[in-house]
This record gives sequence, structure tokens and C-alpha cells, in this order.
Amino acid sequence: MSKGAAAWVRDEIRALAAYHVPPAAGFTKLDAMENPYRLPPAVADRLGRHLAQVAINRYPDPGAPGLKSALRRAMAIPDALPMVLGNGSDEILQMIAVALARPGSTMLALEPSFVMYRMSAIAAGMRYEGVPLAPDFTPDLPATLAAIERSRPALTWIAYPNNPTGNLFPRESVLAILEASPGLVVVDEAYYAFSGGESFLPEVGRHPNLVLMRTVSKLGLAGIRLGLAVGPADWMGEFEKVRLPYNVNVLSAAAAEFVLGEPGVLAEQSRAIVRDRARLEAGLDAIAGARRFPSAANFVLVRVPDAPRAFEGLKSRGILVKNLHGSHALLANCLRLTVGAPDENSRLLSALAESIG
Ligand code: PMP
Repeated sequence: MSKGAAAWVRDEIRALAAYHVPPAAGFTKLDAMENPYRLPPAVADRLGRHLAQVAINRYPDPGAPGLKSALRRAMAIPDALPMVLGNGSDEILQMIAVALARPGSTMLALEPSFVMYRMSAIAAGMRYEGVPLAPDFTPDLPATLAAIERSRPALTWIAYPNNPTGNLFPRESVLAILEASPGLVVVDEAYYAFSGGESFLPEVGRHPNLVLMRTVSKLGLAGIRLGLAVGPADWMGEFEKVRLPYNVNVLSAAAAEFVLGEPGVLAEQSRAIVRDRARLEAGLDAIAGARRFPSAANFVLVRVPDAPRAFEGLKSRGILVKNLHGSHALLANCLRLTVGAPDENSRLLSALAESIG
């Protein structure tokens, strides 16, 4: 009997491809929905001095009271709602899947959506079912409700706004899915900062099966890896049991608490990104052959005549975006463009026009 990985690792894990992060050195990086801005130098300087004081010889306080209060203040999350922290919201996806993975239980997601939903289902040993969105990227409600009825999912993911399409689903559709679901529904608001205030936070606590997830990644802190979930105490209590004790490290916790406590720094950057999104959208509308979709996030989905060719054309001009062609039937010839700084967006627009033309 072989002692190699092929003999022992589960077939479905061996069939997976690891989450792909393309090399980006030397490129204008507009592929991963990062905030393009660094901290203002004076704030970065004070942050450096603050971090120098952190006791890195000690394990983190797993309760992270200071960090949780800073998150509550920054995101207007009521004190009464229990919160669980993750090393990025990616880790929360995994915790939730691990907690719910009874043999044969189903995770449901609308597709196309965030690829880590499916990956986390497979890693945890859940059955995964994707229900295609309608061609306008809104939920196909009859098909979704039929899938819920048929498969009785333990867990359903709704990204609001959705990645990679950028749109907010109609509120009534999300509420109908929530009402019809026998199991947990997680509304993933990773892109909340750009949604014009649209959120399901006011609904949390009113439904026994609604959990809401946020992250600081898109706010400008992607590198520190910090995400959070809030929801009913019974769900949060179970997720705490599968959270590794010290999953958020002391430097990340201190950095987040410090930066979130700096009035307006990240909020101002998000406002700039929303303003620049409108300019990017207007620029895309002026490119013959490009059709862009409405966005409530910090990226814009655009369909071009030949996405693989446009992607290579952008790359040869030093710009990295996400080519979604081939990832889902509804995304044929689509590129996902992260909103960058104004000069990056201008270069993107000219390079795209040249690459299509
Ligand atoms: N949810 C959605 C919808 C995302 O697009 C992403 C990142 N691309 C995440 C969650 C994960 O974000 P993070 O792990 O950086 O918090």
C-alpha cells in the first residue's frame, strides 16, 4: 500500500485546484478588489509606533474586546449581537462549513459567486449545489426556492453585493430565500463599504437562521486578514467552538483597532473609490464593444468581444485584471476590473480600448 498523498487524501480534495493567486510583481494590480491606497504617512508612522508596543511574546486575548468594540463602532453593530472573528472572512467560511458538515448535508450558493464557498464545502466534506443566477445576475427565485425545497440545505451563501457580478440582489429575493431556508443563511457583505449603505444588518436578530459576515479587507486592510460574523447567540456559540483559539494575531488585532479608531481615514478612501467607480463606469460606457454591468462594489464586471484577448492585451500593457471567461457560462467574455486610483483607472481605460480595438 502506498504511503503517498494520492493513496490517502480524499478524492474530492485531490480533484480541487488550489485558490489561484497570479504573480503580480511589476503590474498595476486591479485583479483582487484591494483598496489602492496606503495609509496617510502620519497615520502609518503612528501605527508603527503603536505596534512596537504590542506584547508579541504573549498569545492574543481570544475574546479581543478592544478590537470587537472598534469593529462595532466602525460598522454600527449593536452590542447585543454576538460576534465571531476570523483570520479574514475566508476563515469564517471554513469555520461555518466545518460546523455544519454532517455527512450528506448540502451547502447552496447562487452562481456565479465567490469561489471559496464551493471550495470550503468540499474541504469540509459537504455536498455543494450551485443554482445559476438569471442572465441579468439576479436570483432565479423559482429555481432557487425549488432547490431549497429539494435539497434542504444546511447552509446557503448570499454575497450582497455579489462577487464577481457586482450587483445587489433584490431585497425581497434575499428575504424569500431566508424565509424558505430550513438551515442557516449567511449574507456575506464583504463589499458593504461601496453599497451605498445597503445591508441586512437591521435584519440580524429578527430571523433565527440569519448570520451576517463582513471583512476589513476591502476597506484597505486586506493584508492583516480580519473578518467577522454576527448573528444569533446559538449559532455564534457553535462557531466559537471550531474557531482556533488564537486565530487573529496580536499585530493584526492591534493594527485594526488602531486604524479603525482613526476618524475617517478608511471611510474617506472608500468614498473616493465609489466616486472613481462612477468615472470608470462612464469611461467603460464610452468604449465601443464593452458592456459593463451595474456595480455596488469596488469592481466592475464588463463584457467584451474577446475576453482572453483583452486580458492578454491589458497584461502586455502592464495591467492585471481578472479574466472570468470559462469560469461560468454566464460570464462568457467577462473581465472583472477592480477600481483603482484615478491614474490607474485612466490607464486601464485606454489600455482596454486599445486591447479591444
Ligand atoms: N466574501 C466575498 C464575497 C469575497 O469576494 C471575498 C474576497 N474576495 C471574501 C469574502 C474574503 O475576504 P477576506 O478573506 O479577505 O475577508
